[in-house]
Amino acid sequence: MLLKNGTVLTNDEENKVLENGAVLIDGEDIKEIGESEILESKYPDADVKDMQGKLIMPGMINAHMHIYSTFARGMDLKTDSAPSNFVEILEKLWWRLDNHLNADDIYYSALYSFLTGIKQGTTTVFDHHASYGQTKYSLDIVSKAAEESGIRADLSYEISDRNGDLMRDSALKESEKFLNKIREENSNYLNGRIGLHASFTLEHETLTKVSEMADQYNSSFHIHTAEGRADLEDSRLRGYNGVVKRLDEYNIWRPGTIAVHGVHLQEGEMEILRDNDCYLIHNPESNMNNAVGITSVKEAADQGLMLGLGTDGYTTDMFESIKFADLMLKHSTQDPRLGWSIIPEMVFKTNAKLAEESFGVKLGVLKEGAAADIIVVDYSPPTKLNAENTYAHILFGLNGGMVDTTIVGGNILMENREVQVVDYEKIAHEVRKQSDDFWRRF
Ligand SMILES: [Zn+2]
Repeated sequence: MLLKNGTVLTNDEENKVLENGAVLIDGEDIKEIGESEILESKYPDADVKDMQGKLIMPGMINAHMHIYSTFARGMDLKTDSAPSNFVEILEKLWWRLDNHLNADDIYYSALYSFLTGIKQGTTTVFDHHASYGQTKYSLDIVSKAAEESGIRADLSYEISDRNGDLMRDSALKESEKFLNKIREENSNYLNGRIGLHASFTLEHETLTKVSEMADQYNSSFHIHTAEGRADLEDSRLRGYNGVVKRLDEYNIWRPGTIAVHGVHLQEGEMEILRDNDCYLIHNPESNMNNAVGITSVKEAADQGLMLGLGTDGYTTDMFESIKFADLMLKHSTQDPRLGWSIIPEMVFKTNAKLAEESFGVKLGVLKEGAAADIIVVDYSPPTKLNAENTYAHILFGLNGGMVDTTIVGGNILMENREVQVVDYEKIAHEVRKQSDDFWRRF
């Protein structure tokens, strides 16, 4: 397949911008990038698609998501008992919601979330799943939805002690079953790791068990880390000055572990994450929505942390998350110079590195040999677009609604804004029916 006549943003080391450019896809990979006329004459048998001057760029990678949040959309929390702090938000909304999810709820929540991401240009998702209403088979259900949507997915289940030992044990079992599944399948599209809710809902015995499981399966973790003050205060009550310090006792910080948020990190904790090759994933919209505080993004970048970007279920649109990360950083530091290097590094370099490590293929760039995870964006820049200013165009000019075509591993998932992999209208109808049923049970 040859995508021709587009403006190609390679996003590789050279960060080239090719006007009238073309990308040749062979199977699951990119075979060549070059000028349209040249590639068209070189590959006369290719299935040619005319991009009509649109942007051709790498697909977006969402480093922290919760597909299970789908049915919370539209819930009105403006009541007398509206949650007034982060722990109340968890208790009254998220934990209550995940305790009521059944198998059909999980399937439709996942499928809708993945399809919406695809419509907004996301080609890879790192999901952190919880459904204590139906733990058993839940990761199989989410995997099935991921496969049907065609997206690349790295999954985990939020193990927690918040619902007692029996529920904790079923989460451990589901996680271990999933680690066996991904080991057996050895797929470039489905992977995962051990999910942990957060330090303040994890007891000594559970942390000891998951650490042994990680040793056994050579796995890493995906865990909310110092998101709200309650997490920090819990660690202090247990005798540690910080969540990272407490979890370090259990060897949670291993290469590839995804620490999410890091809003309330204490002195020396960024160094622990950095020195253990962990990722810190920033989710600015979620942090502001939950009013938990502001991650010290500049300090983390200065410390050399691998700092990535996610959406945490607030949205599925990574372009939106880029805007908020940029605004939050500039506004909180009162320094409008910040953001220009830190944010693109997070979203295009570190997220890509995380995804590459997970799926074992080259992601986040358009170059020969990289996976054909490509999006086409309907954008006519009002000013020149070149190698020096691509990020300024992405930041101020793009949003997920402008994505026209989404391709993962050479497979067209959406073309001309039409989802190709499923009957979208039919799925959307089923989702609505299922959510009505869920809201009655919630
Ligand atoms: Zn989260």
